[in-house]
Amino acid sequence: MIPRTKGYQASSGCQTHLPTGGMIVLISGVLYQQTLRQPAKLSGVGLHSGNRVNMTILPAPPNTGIRFRRVDLEGKPEIEARIENVNETNRSTSLAKGNAKVHTVEHVLAAFSGCGIDNAIVELDATEPPIGDGSSQAYTHLILTAGSLPQDQEREVFAIHTPITFENGDSTINVFPHDRLKITCTSADKQGRFTQFFSLEITPETWEKELSRARTFCFFEEIEFLIKNGLIKGGSLETAVVIRDDAILTTEPLRYNEEFVRHKILDILGDLSLVGAPITGHIVAVKPGHATNCALARLINQQIRRPIDLAQSFAPPPPEKLKGASSSTTSSSTTGNDELPIVADGQVLDTAKVMALSICCSASSPDNSFLAASSALSSFRRFMISPADLSPMYFSKSIRANNAF
Ligand SMILES: [Zn+2]
Repeated sequence: MIPRTKGYQASSGCQTHLPTGGMIVLISGVLYQQTLRQPAKLSGVGLHSGNRVNMTILPAPPNTGIRFRRVDLEGKPEIEARIENVNETNRSTSLAKGNAKVHTVEHVLAAFSGCGIDNAIVELDATEPPIGDGSSQAYTHLILTAGSLPQDQEREVFAIHTPITFENGDSTINVFPHDRLKITCTSADKQGRFTQFFSLEITPETWEKELSRARTFCFFEEIEFLIKNGLIKGGSLETAVVIRDDAILTTEPLRYNEEFVRHKILDILGDLSLVGAPITGHIVAVKPGHATNCALARLINQQIRRPIDLAQSFAPPPPEKLKGASSSTTSSSTTGNDELPIVADGQVLDTAKVMALSICCSASSPDNSFLAASSALSSFRRFMISPADLSPMYFSKSIRANNAF
């Protein structure tokens, strides 16, 4: 059983006024999956090619997730926005499936995630979305223009249950159990210039106000080669903030005091949406990049797919320990050397005693999984335990509580 919770666990909704005069309701207490109410289109310039690109976002059925569709290719192939389809994380995140590729997907994905849209198709007639102003502002506006539509399938949110840490060079990213989605980040370049820190819980409200307008930034010395070789033909001061030495080159004042680190959080949100389900957890990152973000997404994906890892190590008492337990009333006495509790054959155990036994034995026999031990206990009929008491979900929750997660 996968430890998921239904819906967001947070807070009140808010109303966002559209520039067109319309109004859309962003509900942060959503219990159901959401798609777009109607299609919406955006045109612009691609970062790499500098060519005109047309993007259309479309409603999609429940459980579709976010998918990119290359309408300029024969058969209009689709690429699911899933971590399995990531093929490049150098400076941006790219997806590939078969012969179809889509570059620089993270800002679009962050907008869907931030706005709470679960299911949508993104049609493109080129290899990348329009870069816009280097933030997610244009995509967020597009989604708000299309509107959101609750669907008849419940949203399943994956709750991080075990801390995960990933390090790559001087980049570090961790995730810890938390009842909402929170991202804390410190960004800096190698020289320690423009070191910034920011932390916030992600909701549709904070997404739009605090993150969506944060533009990407780059260091001049890092992109000089790319500019000279025409590899970012769509790049300009209209699409990114450029830092050269101690100067900030931009066509408008910075939008936030901590715009750089806020953009890093935006990137984390977009990359982690590749897990394929909303998550709750506290992400703590230091100097993250797309490679580390995607590495964490893979590790979270593994945690989702391996619920057995939830189980604490456990083994039944060895037979020699049970020989001395002849009395049917013995329940939790210990042996002379104060090791494992003794439980008699056929004895009825309440839940608390089963838990005490499991935790005690897990400490002494770390190589055996709790599930295997539970199964063994049932088949030996040594204890009278109901199948419900043996569910991995039940025990994982209880043991986590016991360990004060
Ligand atoms: Zn970015």
